[in-house]
Amino acid sequence: VGLRSKLSCKQFVEFLEDYLSRRLPQEQVARFNAHLASCPSCAAYTKTYQQAVRLGRAALLCPEADVPKEAPEDLVRAILAAREETT
Ligand SMILES: [Zn+2]
Repeated sequence: VGLRSKLSCKQFVEFLEDYLSRRLPQEQVARFNAHLASCPSCAAYTKTYQQAVRLGRAALLCPEADVPKEAPEDLVRAILAAREETT
């Protein structure tokens, strides 16, 4: 993502996972927050994405799912923490 150009919706979606898991540098996070605040469709997309992650986590906690829980748990925590910061 270039620093000078405005963040496009396509870029937003492309880097959403990095944003939510706090892998983006500070200046990029600021641009994401700004885009999120001014773009209702990306805000809605982010919400849906977070819900999907939570549903995915619920599926992983199902006893029949033979998948390690650590990574999704960390991801969910990072997402929740990120959301607390923006609200
Ligand atoms: Zn957008």
